[in-house]
Amino acid sequence: MSERGLLIVLSGPSGVGKGTVRKAIFDSEGNEFEYSISMTTRQMRTGEKEGVDYFFSSREEFEKLIETGKMLEHAEYVGNYYGTPLDYVNQTLDEGKDVFLEIEVQGAMKVKEKVPDGVFIFLTPPDFDELKARIVGRGTDEMSVIDERMKIAREEVEMMSHYDYAVVNDKVDLAVDRIKKIIESEHFRVKHVIG
Ligand code: 5GP
Repeated sequence: MSERGLLIVLSGPSGVGKGTVRKAIFDSEGNEFEYSISMTTRQMRTGEKEGVDYFFSSREEFEKLIETGKMLEHAEYVGNYYGTPLDYVNQTLDEGKDVFLEIEVQGAMKVKEKVPDGVFIFLTPPDFDELKARIVGRGTDEMSVIDERMKIAREEVEMMSHYDYAVVNDKVDLAVDRIKKIIESEHFRVKHVIG
């Protein structure tokens, strides 16, 4: 039996509700995942706690960690760095525990390069398919609006093809159940079982 835990990556387009779903998973009954607390250079928001929501750092400190190879991945998002500290992930996987990352798409793609046997889950907006069909089928919007929407939809579809699973976030509880079922079955993959 393989004793290493699974690396689970939850990602998806901005605004889809990744943070809400992740929090609901961690609040849910029987949750056994270990959350990898990210590091960021953004300002702490009201209600957030150091070492709980994020490790907050300066740009200098963050850049030093990148240079010394201490980050599994990092990305710049709206002018701030976000990254996954490597040591915690490795140590926790080695202990046989599943590590859960909730990160944006660029970072998820970097993790995929480094850890191809991770479980990559793409959270999609509920009306994603409908949106695509509407954009294509409707000829009434101004061209610029159609172009912009098509661009976003195309980028999202393109990114989704790099993932193992797509989960619709129509209702948080349902999305949580789907994600937990995916992870449960991932444990029975032959390659995971025999290592
Ligand atoms: P927020 O500032 O709202 O907490 O997060 C902004 C975005 O950064 C969200 O999409 C969140 O998933 C993403 N994020 C949080 N931590 C990390 C990380 O360690 N790496 C990457 N690449 N993205 C992250």
